[in-house]
Amino acid sequence: MTTNKKILITIDVEDWFQVENFKSSISYDSWHRQELRVERNTHRLLDLFDEMGRTPQSTTQYNQLKQQTYSANKPAIRATFFVLGWIARKCPDLVREIHRRGHEIASHGVDHHLCNAQSVSDLRKDLNDSKKLLEDITGDEVYGYRAPSFSVNDGVLKIIQDAGYRYDASYNSFDRHGRYGKLNISAFKQSGIAYQVSDHFHEIPVSNLDFDFKIQNSKLNIQNFSLPWGGGGYFRLIPYAIFRQGVQRILSSADAYSFYLHPWEVDPEQPKVKEAPAAFKFRHYINLASTMKKIRRLLKDFKDCRFVTCRAYIDTIQR
Ligand SMILES: [Zn+2]
Repeated sequence: MTTNKKILITIDVEDWFQVENFKSSISYDSWHRQELRVERNTHRLLDLFDEMGRTPQSTTQYNQLKQQTYSANKPAIRATFFVLGWIARKCPDLVREIHRRGHEIASHGVDHHLCNAQSVSDLRKDLNDSKKLLEDITGDEVYGYRAPSFSVNDGVLKIIQDAGYRYDASYNSFDRHGRYGKLNISAFKQSGIAYQVSDHFHEIPVSNLDFDFKIQNSKLNIQNFSLPWGGGGYFRLIPYAIFRQGVQRILSSADAYSFYLHPWEVDPEQPKVKEAPAAFKFRHYINLASTMKKIRRLLKDFKDCRFVTCRAYIDTIQR
């Protein structure tokens, strides 16, 4: 069965010591002393996308695939990588490699500061610097931005737009997470899963599982209730068979599903931050060992969908 449904795989390229959950335990000044693991972890994802997108039939083809000399007629898996500026400065070759393999490079800011915790001038600088840094490395225009910890709001969205981006991918409708920002999304015209903020600027939210129902003769009235179904820690926490059903349900009414993950989520051997609060450690370390297997299953089970970049998705809905 082939389908016109699309899957937007997005990867926030940052390392294990840069996450918000460990901010109180690992200072920014010590980042340069931490073990850098993001390159090998990102390569594991890149290799998986190549392998699952174009299935080689022999060892020779597999080696050719690695050298980019083999292409089967199966469509490639294209993903969007929101790269942190700090990582791009440290590993420009990684950025070039992601780009060379046909994926989209987008911005995740420079130093992972939450948008709603920065002054307007600091945020403007962060947005401009991270965009230019990535464009200088690849020579290609950066269209997209994702705020650290989805910390967008109406004012921030305007600043992102003014900085010359073509889309933002920071809105997460799950409202039980303290750090996620709020956006008055209903103010914009919906087009597919995206929202048209202006002629040249869109919002692409992370996909969640939405419920909107009222039980008859009951005071229970659940409206616009959403469960986090877009990836990350929730993808690791929820048993895969249930997660897949949720994605199927999302795709039964939407034309696309937007999923996010971090390279450190496929790295069970990463250093442990013992002094972090227990709840944060739970969120960060839960089921790291099985993430790779789960992504492989997700790519396989939805292989009839088209795996497109956010930039390509915006292009298709604009036509
Ligand atoms: Zn992040």
